[in-house]
Amino acid sequence: MKKHLTIALVAHDQRKADMVSWARYNAPLLSKHRIVCTGTTGGLIRKAFDEIGITADIQCMNSGPMGGDAEIAAMVVRNEIDLAVFLIDDLNAQPHEADIQMLLRQCRLHNVPIACNLVSADLMISSGLWDDENYQPSEQTYVKFQR
Ligand code: PGA
Repeated sequence: MKKHLTIALVAHDQRKADMVSWARYNAPLLSKHRIVCTGTTGGLIRKAFDEIGITADIQCMNSGPMGGDAEIAAMVVRNEIDLAVFLIDDLNAQPHEADIQMLLRQCRLHNVPIACNLVSADLMISSGLWDDENYQPSEQTYVKFQR
């Protein structure tokens, strides 16, 4: 597996506090990689990193409702994202539901690991497989099920 990853971080408004505290806790590790965020999420993570004196490569796309999720989904299609953490607000409807579903679908389709809660994010980012030179992600197949 690659050593230098591009990690997408996206959080809806009601999940931003969780994302900021998760990113702050993992800041030393995240700062070794390239971070791509939707606009508001990225601004908050930058501010949190500044407060604790961590320098990181953080690229902010548009805000989610203005197309940020769609921009990150396009990066997934181009194989530019290695891992995504996407904290979705499951208790409130979002104006950009179509873009949310697109990002989720493209990650599934292109075999990109995507964590949608903090436990998954912890497990994925700490996986020893990132450092295993022999690990090759399995190819996905879509074979028609035969009864
Ligand atoms: P935001 O976008 O970080 O710009 O708020 C997140 C989202 O709504 O997908």
